[in-house]
Amino acid sequence: KEEHLRKPEWLKIKLNTNENYTGLKKMMREKNLHTVCEEAKCPNIHECWAVRRTATFMILGDVCTRACRFCAVKTGLPTELDLAEPERVADSVFTMNLKHAVITAVARDDLKDGGSAVFAETVRAIRRKNPFTSIEVLPSDMGGVYENLKTLMDAKPDILNHNIETVRRLSDRVRARAKYNRSLELLLRAKEMYPEIPTKSSLMIGLGETKEEIIETMVDLRANKVDIMTIGQYLQPTKKHLKVQKYYSPEEFAELKEIALSKGFSHCEAGPMVRSSYHADEQVNAAAKQ
Ligand code: SF4
Ligand code: SF4
Repeated sequence: KEEHLRKPEWLKIKLNTNENYTGLKKMMREKNLHTVCEEAKCPNIHECWAVRRTATFMILGDVCTRACRFCAVKTGLPTELDLAEPERVADSVFTMNLKHAVITAVARDDLKDGGSAVFAETVRAIRRKNPFTSIEVLPSDMGGVYENLKTLMDAKPDILNHNIETVRRLSDRVRARAKYNRSLELLLRAKEMYPEIPTKSSLMIGLGETKEEIIETMVDLRANKVDIMTIGQYLQPTKKHLKVQKYYSPEEFAELKEIALSKGFSHCEAGPMVRSSYHADEQVNAAAKQ
């Protein structure tokens, strides 16, 4: 019989929603937009949308050409490229009155440019309509083609975020196609293209890694000039996905945050509910003060 770890108390929270949130959800459907906040059933959605005014949009469709073993996004062959999507995202950022917008995308390995042109146009469209909103981009490795990264970086996002996701040893098992070293290289190349744009990466823990491996990941990210790190608990989205091997306690997260800061990150968020985009608004400020 398969053993499942029991979810600890600190992860059992009730989704807090209100009317404002229901209205925003309706708008997303009308505009045919997707947010990670909704798709991943993120427990922070009320705090992010209503209080912090942050949201994470997923562009280029809702079908991904990859199938990472931790991710609940549908896998398949996307059929089209929606060229009007950038303007609709920009309009939604305006309606939601966002202070900080995170833009991520499914991996479009079917497209030669990895979707980077539409991605870059989304950044520009948001900027035109919302000059005071900070913009964080969270691309996949875009096939490891650095021309695609350059297309995106030329749109000058406020933060370039690319997730390392897991430690080196588990990378091939957890991520589909993405490679540990390639992700490190992407982060370094982004820094070399625009040194003033802060770079950021997230690690999920609870997949069977050791503490030493977590620290090694921190060292690797710093060696590739990454400024900001987030560390969160992996949660299994469905039974078909990888099982949780360990639930870290809030105290363990606090210790990891201290270690990360001692390795030289300018900012680190670490906690059971921390997601790549959690408290991202503060990170822009922290980066600006450097
Ligand atoms: Fe959305 Fe990220 Fe906030 Fe979750 S943490 S609600 S995914 S912005
Ligand atoms: Fe999910 Fe991104 Fe992996 Fe696609 S590439 S399956 S969206 S984590």
